Amino acid sequence: MDKQVLEEAFKFHGHICWASAAGVRAGLAALRQLGVRRTGTSGELHCVLEIGENHGAQCFADGVQYATGCTLGKGNIEKAGWGKLALTLIDKKNEKAVRVSYKPGRHKAIAESAFMTKRGQGIPPTDIPEKEAMEMAVIVWDAPEDEVLIIGPVHPHAWGDDFGEIMGLIPCDNCGELVSRVYLRVVGKSHMCIPCSGYER
Ligand SMILES: [Zn+2]
Ligand SMILES: [Zn+2]
Repeated sequence: MDKQVLEEAFKFHGHICWASAAGVRAGLAALRQLGVRRTGTSGELHCVLEIGENHGAQCFADGVQYATGCTLGKGNIEKAGWGKLALTLIDKKNEKAVRVSYKPGRHKAIAESAFMTKRGQGIPPTDIPEKEAMEMAVIVWDAPEDEVLIIGPVHPHAWGDDFGEIMGLIPCDNCGELVSRVYLRVVGKSHMCIPCSGYER
């Protein structure tokens, strides 16, 4: 597979690791199964990631974001919070979806890599040569797909109507910073951002 895609994904992610490589492969496989391309807008695809908080290998999520174009900023990605390395990609227009999950078919080789051996000895990742990190990441990248991914069937997935993007940024009467109009709160005669308003949400 094209290593340039992987290198660009690592640049976006911030470091070289097996989990983000797995995320890129999973995201690309989901696009292929649905017959769609990486999205540049919020209207086409929606992704549900099964990762949670504060656990290893959440790097998977950045690989998925890079591959699919579903990103935090566009609001077309969300976390289910189950602590699993899997995603469901939804084609909103055609109302179909596919689930792809990481299969640990090469996990022993990853665990035995020079990089992981050093991590096990308590060496911080920044002190391990990039070459060794790359050797670990390509274990996932170069593996046959059926050893690192489980790809479910493409299935119907109802979507319905999006509310659409709510336009308009208005300055908070208290701090003067711009706020999306739907997030302004009324305090007496003023319109304030949530932190200034004292409301929780
Ligand atoms: Zn990572
Ligand atoms: Zn404010």
